[in-house]
Amino acid sequence: MGRTTESVVATRHDRKSPAPPSGDAAVSTLPTREVFASLGTGPGGLTAAEAAARLARDGPNDLPATARGGMGRRLLAQFTDLFAVLLLAASALTFLAYALDQPHDPATLQLALAILGVVLLNAGIGFAQEYSAERTAQSLQAMVPHVCRVLRDAQPREVPARELVRGDVVVLEAGDAVPADCRLVEAEETAVDNAALTGESDAVGRVPGPVPSGALLEARNCVFMGTDLVAGTARAVVFATGTATEFGRIFRLTAAAPRQRTPLQCQVAAMARRVAGLALVAGAVLFAVRVPSGQPFVSTFVFALGVMVALVPEGMPATLSVSLAIGVRRMARRHALVKQLLAVEALGSTSVVCTDKTGTLTQAEMTVVELWADGVPHPVTGVGYAPAGDVTDSPPVRELLRAAALCSNARLLPPTAGEGWRVLGDTTEGALLVAAAKGGVDTAAEEARTPRVAEHPFDSVRKLMSTVHRDEDGTYVVYVKGAPLELLARCDSVARGGGREPLTGASRADVAATADAMAGRGLRVLAVARRTVASARPALAEAESGLTLLGLAGMHDPPRPEVRDAVVACRRAGIRIVMVTGDHPLTAEAVARRVGIVRGPDPTVVTGTRLDSMTEEGLDELLTRSTELLLCRVSPEHKMRVVTALQRRGEVVAVTGDGANDAPALKHADIGVAMGASGTDVAREAAVMVLLDDSFASISAAVALGRSVYRNIRKFLIYLFSHNIAELVPILVASFVGFPLVPITAVQILAIDLGSDVLPALALGAEPVEADVMDSPPRPRRERLFSTAVMGRILFLGGIQALGVCAVFFWHIQASGIPYADFTPSTPAYREAITMVQAGIVVSQFFNALAVRTDRQSVFRAGLLSNPWLLAAGGFGIALMGAISYAPPLQAVFGTAALSVGDWAVLVAFGALLLAAEEARKWMTRRRRHAGERARAR
Ligand code: ADP
Ligand code: MG
Repeated sequence: MGRTTESVVATRHDRKSPAPPSGDAAVSTLPTREVFASLGTGPGGLTAAEAAARLARDGPNDLPATARGGMGRRLLAQFTDLFAVLLLAASALTFLAYALDQPHDPATLQLALAILGVVLLNAGIGFAQEYSAERTAQSLQAMVPHVCRVLRDAQPREVPARELVRGDVVVLEAGDAVPADCRLVEAEETAVDNAALTGESDAVGRVPGPVPSGALLEARNCVFMGTDLVAGTARAVVFATGTATEFGRIFRLTAAAPRQRTPLQCQVAAMARRVAGLALVAGAVLFAVRVPSGQPFVSTFVFALGVMVALVPEGMPATLSVSLAIGVRRMARRHALVKQLLAVEALGSTSVVCTDKTGTLTQAEMTVVELWADGVPHPVTGVGYAPAGDVTDSPPVRELLRAAALCSNARLLPPTAGEGWRVLGDTTEGALLVAAAKGGVDTAAEEARTPRVAEHPFDSVRKLMSTVHRDEDGTYVVYVKGAPLELLARCDSVARGGGREPLTGASRADVAATADAMAGRGLRVLAVARRTVASARPALAEAESGLTLLGLAGMHDPPRPEVRDAVVACRRAGIRIVMVTGDHPLTAEAVARRVGIVRGPDPTVVTGTRLDSMTEEGLDELLTRSTELLLCRVSPEHKMRVVTALQRRGEVVAVTGDGANDAPALKHADIGVAMGASGTDVAREAAVMVLLDDSFASISAAVALGRSVYRNIRKFLIYLFSHNIAELVPILVASFVGFPLVPITAVQILAIDLGSDVLPALALGAEPVEADVMDSPPRPRRERLFSTAVMGRILFLGGIQALGVCAVFFWHIQASGIPYADFTPSTPAYREAITMVQAGIVVSQFFNALAVRTDRQSVFRAGLLSNPWLLAAGGFGIALMGAISYAPPLQAVFGTAALSVGDWAVLVAFGALLLAAEEARKWMTRRRRHAGERARAR
């Protein structure tokens, strides 16, 4: 049974697990009939009532949410990061200084408590933020429920995987995640990837039928929860669900996996560390300058410590995570579900999108509008999946439709309350079933008359699919459908006038020309063929050769209306769009023109076959040369190769995928994008982003949001780091001119960092998307967050603030006429002066927050009121400052004094000056840019 090593975990999870393991032991060794019997089910599955009863009895088919360490442990973890440890040490030292200093200085105790408060506050914020990020991740996960196909009352149904019970018969196909532990009862070229269970990721073949007893995991007729079907199709009966599965037994605390930090997070953390280092140095310098000048040792030490603490940018990483999380939530609202924060950043610098055609650019709501049989076209009327419409009723058309319908795995579902006709499974096949119904073919009756005995499933490399049926007279017939050129190459005759004619060079060219003409009109064309074979299980090579072509089916797949604008936006944003499709080149080009991907007279259209014959250099050359590139009749391996080649050129590549074999390309790309509605489970697992609506427009929206997240991060970093300069410079200046006290106390600085500055920084991180985010080319992959331009702005804004703050401080001090040496912390003029400094920083930060909202554009153009949260947050900061200035208890804590209206007026005028200076800088940048553009235009 192979579960000896897992027994410890098994007992822990065995809450409501059904069935003694001894009953399962034989599941792999029994003949199919007995498997059904032992599980109280049959080939048609359970009845809906029985399934409901079993669900109620056995519990849902899911695993308990990963227990991520206890709450206490996680809260504790908040105190062990670098900043927390630094601050705790500082607090301890300050307490020590208070205890040693005689007489005790209450200000020292105050500082020690304040630092401790900072640590607690930070831990609280960090904890709350981590908790909410986790909740967000969970709720995002719930937006893409895992559904699977089962038979209930002998009818195919789609049910959430968590509602599976023992005895359910599931229908699996390539790309499906195996939803529970199942014994195969039918399998066609089935292979699974057991990596999640055994660590070996090679695909292993699976077959139905009993095997000798042995380790269950090695039984070749079983598939297990947590693994994926990578090829073929299968029917299987569920024998274990939820925690009773093998996966459930070895299910460990996956939460132990280290949380990965994104490059941006690393850059910000590194910067925060550097500034912390700078703070330590600044503290040490102050200490060194002041002690020799006769200041008391302990108070100078405490003072230096306070400066260090005040300058440590402890809140920065948390603000960053919040703003990334806001980005994730906004993307989800635009139908783009991001699974890793990394994708939020990468999206901002995406330079190429390789996109599928079907379903992403088009609606994938296919309707067969034209058939070609017996040498003549036959229009089909009606729209959508309702089988209402007409088509010529003739034997050749009937045979074409019958073959197409028999060679399909999709199901047409009649309308239910609130919903019209629906297709369960592949929409291409759904369209064929609808056409067959319009042509009077009763698919169910045909399936009963000529039952399917074998299948060679569709795969996107062959671009074909075939099924073998036993005819009434006992002979075997193969029906094949697939891409026209691929299928035509395997035909040697064509059905004509009730018989068949050999395909000659001319008639072959004629069929190809007909298919091309249909494709040229933007139709997706499928060819259908048949042959008879001697045995029920012919090999692939035999089944799909020597075929007789029955005809062609052309289906219309309307473009998604919203894609056009999204394509225009990408173009403006300097993002290249490469269409990658398995479809016919002419179909691809027609669709590409309709959605605006192709505008020029001759786009570069490259087929998979040509790609195969191309060297890497040739491919590089092709990618450099062609501006409008369509890759057609390609397989997932080609996709992978193109992604790699683009990355080699330094591009940041987003690639979409839906199939089972798209996983490598999705994993390799910078942003793997899977389809939430139509994609396979395997693709969704491999991707970092899932589109809930499958639409290309959602990719473009996500890119815009990714760019905006980056810009917002830059905004609050400039905002926060520039005021650090305004805090530090006056202290240094005061020290060097020999003023005995500080222009701003550590407690005041903490009030700014943790009081008035927090909300505006968060509001900047949540700024709405700027109108011009898609107006410039993508950010270079290697661009540093703290670029020269950003550092320049920090110094510019911080410099102005520092200048102003120093001016108001010394103006107050000089105006009092008191000699430096006579100042004490209780001198009214000093109290006023430090209040001016703190208020000066708060007020100028209000204007600073407005200034950093745009890079080049004037904020007045962007709209001063367009982020009301920012104004509210800034207003709160000023109100807080007002309280610190006027409320007696706060005056006592902060050593502040009431400011006059004139004082405030000076500060506001000064803040306005800062905004004006920044506007002037933006104006100059804009002018220089225009001049540059004009020069280039000439
Ligand atoms: P795409 O969806 O971009 O067209 P695929 O790799 O899914 O790419 O399909 C490649 C080609 O295979 C299609 O253009 C079509 O001609 C054919 N094809 C698609 N689905 C089926 C199917 N279910 N059965 C047979 N042939 C199919
Ligand atoms: Mg497809």
